[in-house]
Amino acid sequence: MTDKIYDGVGRRTVLAGAGVGFALASAKAVAAPTMPAAAPIDEGSSTGGHISFPPIHADTERPDGTPPNQDPPARRVGFAIVGLGRLALENILPAFAQCKHARPVALVSGDPEKLQTVAAQYGIAPSACYDYAGFDRIRDDAAIEAVYIVLPNALHHDAVVRAARAGKHVLCEKPMATSPAEARSMVEACAKAGKRLMIAYRCQYEINNRELSKRARAGEFGQIQLIDAINTQNQGDPAQWRQKKALAGGGSLPDVGLYCLNTTRALLGEEPTEVQATIYSPSGDPRFAEVESTVSFTLRFPSGAVANCASSYSAHEHRNLRVIGTKAVGEIENAFGYEGQKLHISKREGKAESDSALSFGQKNQFSLEIDHMAECVRSGARPRTPGEEGLQDQVIMAAIYESARTGRPVKLAAETQVDAFRGPMPADA
Ligand code: NAD
Repeated sequence: MTDKIYDGVGRRTVLAGAGVGFALASAKAVAAPTMPAAAPIDEGSSTGGHISFPPIHADTERPDGTPPNQDPPARRVGFAIVGLGRLALENILPAFAQCKHARPVALVSGDPEKLQTVAAQYGIAPSACYDYAGFDRIRDDAAIEAVYIVLPNALHHDAVVRAARAGKHVLCEKPMATSPAEARSMVEACAKAGKRLMIAYRCQYEINNRELSKRARAGEFGQIQLIDAINTQNQGDPAQWRQKKALAGGGSLPDVGLYCLNTTRALLGEEPTEVQATIYSPSGDPRFAEVESTVSFTLRFPSGAVANCASSYSAHEHRNLRVIGTKAVGEIENAFGYEGQKLHISKREGKAESDSALSFGQKNQFSLEIDHMAECVRSGARPRTPGEEGLQDQVIMAAIYESARTGRPVKLAAETQVDAFRGPMPADA
């Protein structure tokens, strides 16, 4: 057995044997050596409040990481989180720990005990805890610059409008709303208040999805012929709000099917001109008394690309995305999950078909998304996924429902501009 210990001046001493007590005593007895000064490559440098290190690996290796260089807390954009449900507590609040430009400063919930517990966990003052009725008082709290709405879908509209009227920028969970009319009214309310509205399309900030889109748009796969996007999960208790039309607005489509729709549009940068859809729900299943289970929809794009998308609330979890071009295929395993994405590219290589797995490491997509919103608040830039991006999805989802109801394809307004509803792409994280 070998034990490694460090002496008082940081020198590492390696000792063999099990006698750790003896080893420590011996190490202390060693005279302090004269250490050579750290080389610049080891010490790094601090410039303008940013720490950086030169690379220690050869350029044959993946680029080294960099320290996060987060803003000092007082300079970060303060967010109020509205709704303390699963997503807020399991993903969003923990993600602030990896944010560089944002911090949680206030909470809004209808449950006083939960408010108190969560506020204590995140060091939020009791005076910055609000209930839904008193939520408009956030107007008087200058520390709150932005509000993150994490409520059931049908409550987004009212909360976004109130936050904008209170003079705050708004980040709103997907789906933005339960109808195009609601979504339009949210965009108008934020524009009238002169505040930014961003929809939390985390996959547009996730590194593998961004890489696939970059490669597709650069022509690496040739002319895109087909996109295959599936997002399914098997729902439990029929009493939950997701199974109630009045609160959810629909079933699997606005919840998980929206990822297939939004990611496909974002990948190509084009807007579909036509949609055709079919809906199926297992009969007699109480989970589907009000909302649909399985939705299959086909989108036609101006370039000729066709996307086959499917979502379900009664099929085992599966979240894959595949892009098939004339020259190559790109695929992301677990494309719409919170983590665990794997990007594969298959193409001809001489006489062989190569299949490469690309690894970019993991970055918390919620932190990337929240930081993007914070940077937009600071710079005044339009978010990559503004309210108009969410509104366009609401328009297409309404057309999907119409097509399923009538059994006919539904035409959509032609849009020739690339990324017609999006703001600038954030710099590489
Ligand atoms: P959840 O049910 O866990 O939490 C909802 C919260 O809203 C709860 O705290 C609940 O108390 C509160 N609430 C207030 N009024 C309510 C009412 N009338 N009925 C029911 N709940 C009420 O839901 P969630 O999973 O946190 O989802 C919240 C939002 O986040 C939804 O819009 C959902 O689509 C979205 N979401 C997004 C992702 C993502 O990956 N971006 C993942 C999950 C959920």
